[in-house]
Amino acid sequence: MKNSQPAVSHKVSPHRHCFSCGKVVSVSSDYCSPDCEMRDQQRVKDIESIKFSMRLVIILVVIALILNFLLPMLLP
Ligand SMILES: [Zn+2]
Repeated sequence: MKNSQPAVSHKVSPHRHCFSCGKVVSVSSDYCSPDCEMRDQQRVKDIESIKFSMRLVIILVVIALILNFLLPMLLP
């Protein structure tokens, strides 16, 4: 009896989960509603803009560091 495990996982019909909220959706769709799709795409855009500004900050810091090293050499 100790080896009898419930085979529930094999009985679940094929399905996916909404990319945004995780609700069960049909296999053919990625989101449970147009609202969720919009929200997820907005989130992706937000992440992209955060990545962009972080890259910008890193570039500015690198330029500032280079100038910090170069300026004393250029000044008499
Ligand atoms: Zn959803």
